[in-house]
Amino acid sequence: MKKRKVLIVGAGPGGLAAAMLLAAQGLDVAVYEKQPQVGGRSSRLTLGEFHFDRGATFLMMPHKWQELFAMTGRRLEDHVRLVPLEPMYRLQFGDVQLNATTDRALMQRRIEALFPGEGAGYARFMRDEAEKFARIAPLLERPFNSWRDYVAGDMARALPKLHATGTVYSRLSAYFRDERLKTAFCFQSKYLGMSPWECPGTFTILSYLEHRYGLMHPVGGINRLCEAMADAVRADGGRIELGAAVRQVLVQDGRAVGLLLEDGRREEADDVIIGADFSQAASRLFAPGVLRKYGPAKLARKKFSCSTFMLYLGLDRMIDLPHHTVLFAADYRSNVDDITSRQKLSDEPSIYIHNPSPLDPTLAPAGQSALLLLVPVPNTQAPIDWEREAGPFRRRVLDRLKSYPELQKLEEAIVCERVVTPWDWRDGLDVYHGATFNLAHSLDQMLTLRPHNRFEELERCWLVGGGTHPGSGLPTILESAKITCAMLTASPSDRAGINAKGAIRR
Ligand SMILES: Cc1cc2nc3c(=O)[nH]c(=O)nc-3n(C[C@H](O)[C@H](O)[C@H](O)COP(=O)(O)OP(=O)(O)OC[C@H]3O[C@@H](n4cnc5c(N)ncnc54)[C@H](O)[C@@H]3O)c2cc1C
Repeated sequence: MKKRKVLIVGAGPGGLAAAMLLAAQGLDVAVYEKQPQVGGRSSRLTLGEFHFDRGATFLMMPHKWQELFAMTGRRLEDHVRLVPLEPMYRLQFGDVQLNATTDRALMQRRIEALFPGEGAGYARFMRDEAEKFARIAPLLERPFNSWRDYVAGDMARALPKLHATGTVYSRLSAYFRDERLKTAFCFQSKYLGMSPWECPGTFTILSYLEHRYGLMHPVGGINRLCEAMADAVRADGGRIELGAAVRQVLVQDGRAVGLLLEDGRREEADDVIIGADFSQAASRLFAPGVLRKYGPAKLARKKFSCSTFMLYLGLDRMIDLPHHTVLFAADYRSNVDDITSRQKLSDEPSIYIHNPSPLDPTLAPAGQSALLLLVPVPNTQAPIDWEREAGPFRRRVLDRLKSYPELQKLEEAIVCERVVTPWDWRDGLDVYHGATFNLAHSLDQMLTLRPHNRFEELERCWLVGGGTHPGSGLPTILESAKITCAMLTASPSDRAGINAKGAIRR
């Protein structure tokens, strides 16, 4: 019997996870990836002998990866070695350093020592968020295809805990008094590219999840997880073509029927999955007039996340800093407002430093290190001329590091370097508006109001990745692939009630 043929646009984490699940079920799967490597925003960047994660570096909820591999009959540990991080990260507020740990009692003591009287708030936060997460998790594991999906038992149970009317910041104010402590539990809104003062209160679960499950480092970087997924796809008979850009999704009578590649090939399919950045795909990969709900005029009204300015530095020495460090601007609120509402570059930006080499010798020659600096900045909707600004902004970032003892004489240690601006994300990696964390996660762009896993505009067309439900961030991107594949392989009558594990909700 002829196998069902599924073509996937893009070998980012979303596209690869979908390919992995479907290839393991015996479907005829082919992935077309424009870049010369897999992984998309989570791919490897190599400069000489130095290797970097291009984008994602925070690996949360490792069990989501274990689940994915187990669904294809594999053990994640046989393919990638995960090392737990201790401390999880260092948060630096001027001279004050908070080293975050998953050891609850120790964390409470550290908070109490730096912010007297605040330790109990942390314990209360963790208790309340555990209950909240238990109620929200089922919503992240099933599709939201229509308003009918709101009338379900799991939604009713979650509703009182969604905290959708407040913001992340306002919710944290119920637990902490010190602004720095609030920042320590709300900066995670940046993972969604949003301001904690605007991000729905639902997303306090992000800091909870870090403190609950901890963070891991995959040896070789997060990009190794993408490579491992690609190996699994190939081992199960799927194909991945690199350097193969898709020009158009072929559509007939309201149904996706295949792909037209840039090299002129036309490939027919029973189903098409879009793993490319959703908005970029919607604006580029369909003939004019095919999309209505996500046509150009509607897309222009959507809200998008911030972007990131990146410095990838190969250094001739090791740096004495934890794996993850965040240096917060003295006025964090103003820094965030610059990025999201004033749309300008901050005089004093917050800077995230990824320093994996002390833990992972595979990334740089012995005694040297691969250091990544990430600075959240406005996306390309802002009137910032990056050709002009990249140099001065790099200077500003490096100057700001000079005040930290561990980063003295950093510039003298640079062996090789790559600067990536929002324009590079947009033009080089096909990220719409350079919004590295995708469509914003505002209430009007979540659940049913986010592009659906079963793309509502076309039959036999499916979405995975950060632009669909449940959202941007690796654990949710994996869930998007599980949900999409469960629906794709279910009978039409079961589809509506399916969840990410393929279980039918009656
Ligand atoms: C700087 C940065 C830091 C991040 N940090 C984290 C983090 O720490 N933790 C976390 O969980 N998440 C993080 N993320 C968010 C997110 O998890 C990653 O960006 C993730 O890689 C997104 O996966 P995706 O599958 O949605 O899309 P992508 O990774 O963007 O993959 C899409 C793929 O589609 C390809 N493509 C596009 N158009 C075409 C076409 N026409 N034809 C063929 N192929 C095409 C692209 O080349 C790309 O490979 C970060 C993102 C960025 C940018």
